[in-house]
Amino acid sequence: MEKLIDRFGREIYYLRISVTDRCNYRCMYCMPKGGINWKPMSEILSYEEITDFVKVAASLGVRKIKLTGGEPLVRKGLHDLIAMIKSVDGIDEVSLTTNGSLLKNFGKKLKESGLDRITVSLDTLRKDKFSIITRLGNLDDVIMGVETLNNLGFRKSKINTVVMKGINDDEILDLVDFAVQVDFDIRFIELMPTDLIDDWKAHFISVEEIKKRIEKKYTLEPSNKKTNGPAVYYKLDNIDIGFITPLSHAFCSVCNRIRLTSDGFILPCLGHPDRVGTKDALRKGDFEKVKELIRYSVEIKPKEHALLNESIHSSMASVGG
Ligand code: SAM
Ligand code: SF4
Repeated sequence: MEKLIDRFGREIYYLRISVTDRCNYRCMYCMPKGGINWKPMSEILSYEEITDFVKVAASLGVRKIKLTGGEPLVRKGLHDLIAMIKSVDGIDEVSLTTNGSLLKNFGKKLKESGLDRITVSLDTLRKDKFSIITRLGNLDDVIMGVETLNNLGFRKSKINTVVMKGINDDEILDLVDFAVQVDFDIRFIELMPTDLIDDWKAHFISVEEIKKRIEKKYTLEPSNKKTNGPAVYYKLDNIDIGFITPLSHAFCSVCNRIRLTSDGFILPCLGHPDRVGTKDALRKGDFEKVKELIRYSVEIKPKEHALLNESIHSSMASVGG
């Protein structure tokens, strides 16, 4: 089978698909208060079109799919898409990243669709702070979502936490304890600059610092956990704690992914403005062209991101984080 190997010898087998740019939250680091100008539904790929894209990508060696957004669960019938993608030859894992607010409603359907794994974003355990960070969210919904996943027997679920100095960095240990208690792995992520964060540097806290603070209380043992993502993991009790440093170039050299936006653009790199449109080809059913466009996106994939030179995206919601 053909493989997608880029100019730097990296094999690309992981595809992150943003299924919608819409969201029921307005996280302070991700979306403006008033939301963004949602793309008209006519611009958004249908589930059939997304599945066609996945079939072509799978024929080129893509094996792992992550569904993201915006908030993927605000798109109606997401479980149908998951079942469609799960049945594509060559795809061996489908996972989802969600803000968790709707898991209590849709968890069962997700389980039935064959979804393999779920990551829930959670930055704070305090209700008032949760409302400040997410603007529209309610912490209880997410906690219920976490419980729903455990009750449904989802294995190896994860929490993603973006740490911001002066906002939630006082809760690092509480979040670790929470993860141990609910038996979720947890990953701490450095804040990435976007147009929305005026004083990004003032809120930035490095993963070295986050790790140091955890180590004041706990001993972290190196872990051999390997995932499709860029986290480096350590063991603590029953869980793995991961650290993601988007701003260092540490993970660019092992990058294995491309992204597809909800309106059909391939992003070869999260931290670069290049985009390759595939919607026309998909809508014409010209799958040879789609194949060519995927190969081309991998060919132009840069060696490393340019996140520190410019804030590339006005909002992570448009590209799926
Ligand atoms: N709505 C879903 C969620 O919140 O998990 C999926 C989409 S969201 C864009 C994906 C991930 O990107 C989330 O974990 C979120 O915390 C992260 N993210 C968004 N903006 C970010 C930023 N400026 N820096 C670091 N992570 C960010
Ligand atoms: Fe929505 Fe996720 Fe962005 Fe928060 S991080 S605004 S939940 S897309």
